[in-house]
Amino acid sequence: MIKNLQKRQKILLIIFVYGAKLLCYAANSIKLNRMILRLNTLIIVVLLAFCFSCAEKEQQPFSFVQLCDTQLGMGGYAHDIMTFKQAVVQINELNPDFAVICGDLVHNASDSSYSDFLEILETLNVPCHLAPGNHDVGNIPNDTTLNYYRETIGKDYFDFQNKGYSFIVTNTQLWKVDIGSESAKHDKWFEETLKNQEAKKLPIFVIGHYPIFLEDPEEEEKYYNIPPIKRKWILDLFKSNNVLAYLSGHTHKLLVNNYENIQFVSGETTSKNFDERPYGFRLWDVSSDTIQHQFISLELSKVEKE
Ligand SMILES: [Zn+2]
Repeated sequence: MIKNLQKRQKILLIIFVYGAKLLCYAANSIKLNRMILRLNTLIIVVLLAFCFSCAEKEQQPFSFVQLCDTQLGMGGYAHDIMTFKQAVVQINELNPDFAVICGDLVHNASDSSYSDFLEILETLNVPCHLAPGNHDVGNIPNDTTLNYYRETIGKDYFDFQNKGYSFIVTNTQLWKVDIGSESAKHDKWFEETLKNQEAKKLPIFVIGHYPIFLEDPEEEEKYYNIPPIKRKWILDLFKSNNVLAYLSGHTHKLLVNNYENIQFVSGETTSKNFDERPYGFRLWDVSSDTIQHQFISLELSKVEKE
């Protein structure tokens, strides 16, 4: 754990240890010597406790992958199976800490499409966190579609941590349409989770399916964004709770925005891109100085020849 200590803390520790030792040597009286030794030990214990607590909170650099709209069946079922498999092969080679999929896992939610999706996902060697999209829980979610997703895939909203950063995975369909108690429950959870993570001084990434906005935070509601009143509530929470980036999908075209120093990125898909971008995913590199993302194109020429 010592190697995790900050440089400045290490220097302080060395100064105290050697300073106190010098004092011990200088002191002729045995009584004074013992007293200084005790004081020395106490200072070391207090410093170590302080340093270890700092080391626990410290952010460590890491990388993760953002996949969007695997949406098996959107670009042709066999095609989307092939591209998703190839993405998994390349992610395994890159070996990031984990991957996230920003919703629309399949085009038509069913036992067979989810079974195919999960079968491919099992070949991924790193953890993968899934956000639901409109194709997963329906444009207007209801108890049946939500329960089906929860039973087949798992939680539709949750949070996790990685190397001193917090990741909050949302169900944006509950923001896009207000469906009563499910939306209210999701809102309450989201606000509380953000505030809890912020209180722990964890920088936050939020993951969802719908972009919060497309070009302008003040724009009208469209098929591809979140309604203005809900959007303002979300953006205000982002600003006041140390959110670094919001990652989404849904647009099937690359969307990169910066608002109040928060990055907003909807990435390329593996199923169908409306902007003629190649198929692929985004590799995010996170460190305390910079948060960057780069496009990784699928090497389909290899697979298509087979
Ligand atoms: Zn979608």
